[in-house]
Amino acid sequence: MDTVIKRRETRVVKVGNAFIGGGHPISIQSMTNTNTENVESTINQINELEKAGCEIVRISLPTLESARKVKEIKQRVSIPVVGDIHFDYKIAIEAIKNGIDKIRINPGNIGDESKVEEIVRAAKEYKVPIRVGANSGSLPKDLENLPKAQALGEAALREVKILEKYGFEDIVISVKSSDVLETIEANRYIAKLVDYPLHVGVTEAGTLYNSLIKSSIALGVLILEGLVDTVRISIAGAPVNEVIAAKKLLTFLHLRKGPNIVACPTCSRTVFDVENVALEVEKMLSDIDEEITVSVLGCVVNGIGEGKEADVGIAGTKSGVVVFHKGEIVGTFTYEMGMEKLKEYVEKVIEEKAS
Ligand code: SF4
Repeated sequence: MDTVIKRRETRVVKVGNAFIGGGHPISIQSMTNTNTENVESTINQINELEKAGCEIVRISLPTLESARKVKEIKQRVSIPVVGDIHFDYKIAIEAIKNGIDKIRINPGNIGDESKVEEIVRAAKEYKVPIRVGANSGSLPKDLENLPKAQALGEAALREVKILEKYGFEDIVISVKSSDVLETIEANRYIAKLVDYPLHVGVTEAGTLYNSLIKSSIALGVLILEGLVDTVRISIAGAPVNEVIAAKKLLTFLHLRKGPNIVACPTCSRTVFDVENVALEVEKMLSDIDEEITVSVLGCVVNGIGEGKEADVGIAGTKSGVVVFHKGEIVGTFTYEMGMEKLKEYVEKVIEEKAS
């Protein structure tokens, strides 16, 4: 099924070798959690994130030394790198000079506007875009009486206006709240006011379960409304989970090609370990960029009927498993042989789809 989404018309922002906005596919972002000054571990993590499907990565630049490390990091990774900078304009300029592909700042916390002007001058010279935005945790005092979503939008707009004042329009905006509904409303609000692309995510979304649910609701709604240009699913812990989650979200919305593993919820008829088989199949297909649906079902009673939409499926029987392909039974096997058969058919389907 194709997803019909009318994307909001936005400017295009070039970030290294990637594009955000202007109808370009929604890009997947994540952020390292290494000490950026430790170049080896930062590069290793970026490469791990890229392998998982990350397309733009952000690194924290808390010190001038970390900004100097950008040069080496950039030489050894292939996805665009964004520098996250607070307060110190010198770090931003150092990062730009060392080849950063985009910077994330809040002009409002850089201090004197002459410092912002200096950042803008360097960003223009090196063609480095800037992401500005607002976060529900750090709203300006004078906006606190407004409804939260509006306050977020207005706070982001303030940051945008500072850059525009110095003739800078190579901008991506984010308005982030840790609340799902506020995130949705704030993005709707800012989307009506400007045509800069939007970086969308629920901030501080929490641990895996919490973030997956919050992020799926907020991003799902906003993606279907056409307002999202790039995403980050924030999850406490290993950043690779953020990338896996974002990839799955875009795949399940039919915006990317990828595997869809269907598994029954199990019931008293279940005769094999559905969860572990489904996990094994997920692992088997984790690097596949083709659309394929594989069904894992606990029994044959309802199983084959329930799984007939799948390209390939496996269902438990009392003595082994049944493997099926496009609703037709391939045969009955022992568990081990059934898994081999499943793999064989999965490869066959992928080959057919790729050709
Ligand atoms: Fe139960 Fe079989 Fe349906 Fe799974 S496929 S939920 S085991 S009836």
